[in-house]
Amino acid sequence: MTLHIPFSNSYGTLPARFYTRQPATPVAEPRLIAFNDALADLLGIDKGTPEELARVFAGNHVPPGADPLAQVYAGHQFGGFSPQLGDGRALLLGEVETQAGRVDLQLKGAGRTPYSRGGDGRAWLGPVLREYVLSEAMHALGVPTTRALAAVTTGETVWRETGLPGAVLTRVAASHIRVGTFQFFAARGDIDGLRTLFDYTRARHYPQAETPAELLATVIDRQAKLVAQWMSFGFIHGVMNTDNTTLSGETIDYGPCAFIDDFHPDTVFSSIDRHGRYAWSNQPHVIVWNMAQLATALVPLCPDADAAVAEFTDLVHAMPARIETERLVRFGAKLGLSRPREADRVLIDELLDLMAQDGADFTNTFRALGTARARDQVTDRARFEAWEARWQARRATEPGDPATLMARSNPVIIPRNHRVEEMIGAAVAGDFAPFERLLKVLARPHDDQPEAADLTRPPEPHERVRQTFCG
Ligand code: AMP
Ligand code: MG
Ligand code: MG
Repeated sequence: MTLHIPFSNSYGTLPARFYTRQPATPVAEPRLIAFNDALADLLGIDKGTPEELARVFAGNHVPPGADPLAQVYAGHQFGGFSPQLGDGRALLLGEVETQAGRVDLQLKGAGRTPYSRGGDGRAWLGPVLREYVLSEAMHALGVPTTRALAAVTTGETVWRETGLPGAVLTRVAASHIRVGTFQFFAARGDIDGLRTLFDYTRARHYPQAETPAELLATVIDRQAKLVAQWMSFGFIHGVMNTDNTTLSGETIDYGPCAFIDDFHPDTVFSSIDRHGRYAWSNQPHVIVWNMAQLATALVPLCPDADAAVAEFTDLVHAMPARIETERLVRFGAKLGLSRPREADRVLIDELLDLMAQDGADFTNTFRALGTARARDQVTDRARFEAWEARWQARRATEPGDPATLMARSNPVIIPRNHRVEEMIGAAVAGDFAPFERLLKVLARPHDDQPEAADLTRPPEPHERVRQTFCG
C-alpha cells in the first residue's frame, strides 16, 4: 500500500467508557467518487492509488496507525434529552496533526455500532454528496466547518423509503467533541469522566482556558460568531441539537441544512422541524439555549455550585448581545460598512424587512445592492429607494472602499437547494459531472464566473425545494 496517513491519535487514550473500539464493517464494492487533494496535502497524506483510497475510506482496510472507534455522547434533540446517543453510523478513524492543529478523520456511514439503536449504520449517496458540497462551500465562504476528504460508493443498497446507493463520507473536523459529549458524563454523574473530558478539550482546543467558566466563555464566543456568519449567508442549519453543537465552534452535521433562496426570516426546510424550532431567525435563540445546556453540564466541575451557576448564568445571559454585535459586523459588511454602529441596525433590519415582504432572493439581492437588479427584487419601490438613499448617505461617511468590502461579504454563488437536489439525482443515475461542477464553482463563491451564471439563478416555481431530510 502506497497510501500513507500520518496518524497521531489521542482520543483512544481516554478511558474506555468514552467510546467503543471497533473496525468498520466492510462494504461489497468500494469505489472512490471524490477525493479532496488540497485537503489531503494539508493533512500530510501520501495518496495511494484510487483503489487504495477507496478501500481505506470505505472502511474495508484499516490503514497503519488508525484506531477506529465510535464515540459516545448524549444530547437534546428538539429540546428532549437523550442520555445516550453516539456514533451510530460513524467511526473515528484516527487523528492527524496539521500546522493548524490536530484534526479527526471520521468515516460516516461505516456500519452499525453499539450506538446505532434502530439504524442501519449506513449512509446513502445523496446525503454524502450533499455534505461534501455544502461543507466545502461553507469552508470557501470562510465559515468554520468540518470538511470533506473523500466519498466512496459501497456497491450496496441502503434502504430508506426505497433502495438507494450506499456511500461513505470521510469527514475532517477539529474534533467531534459536542455539547452532548459533556452532557453524557454530567447526566450520569460521572464527574471523573467530566473532568477528563474538560482537560482533554482544554488541551486540544483552548489551552488558555483554565477554568470551566473560561471554557464556557470561549465556546460562547466561537458559537456567537458562527451563528452570526450562518445568518449572514442565509444558512439554516436545520438540526441544532446539542449533539450537533461542537466545542470547537465548527459547523457540523449537514443533514437537513439549506441556504435560503427567497428570504423570509421564519424559513424552515427540515422535514422533521415541524414547529420551526430551528428556523433561520430562531438560530440565535437556540444557540443560547444550547450554551445553557453546556453551562449546566459544566457546573459539577466547580467546587462552589451556587457561585458557578451565578457566573455561568451571567455568561449565557450576555450571549444574545454578543450575537447581535457579531450580526451587526457581518451584515454591516454586507452593506459596505466596515465600522457599523448601533444606529446601522435600523438600516439592516429595514432591508431585511423589505426583502421578506416580497421574498427577495437573499444572495442575489445583497450581491446586487446599489444596482437595478436589487431594486427589481422588491415591489415597494418608493420604500426601497428611500432606504437606498439613507444607505448611500451612510456609506458616503465610510472610510476605505465599501465596494470591495461588499464584494468580499456577499457571495455570488451559494449551493442552492434545487441545484444540490439536481446534482444528487444525476449522481444516483451515474453522472457525477454536476457534483464536480458545483464543487469547482463553489470553491470561488465571491468571484463572478460567467460560465456558471445558471447556478446563480433562483429556482423557478417548479424547481423549488421546500423540504430537506436528515438522510
Ligand atoms: P443526527 O440527527 O444526524 O445528529 O443523528 C442523531 C443520532 O442518530 C446520532 O447518534 C447518529 O449516530 C444516529 N444515526 C443517524 N442515522 C443513523 C443510521 N442510519 N444508523 C445508525 N445511527 C444513525
Ligand atoms: Mg449529528
Ligand atoms: Mg445528521
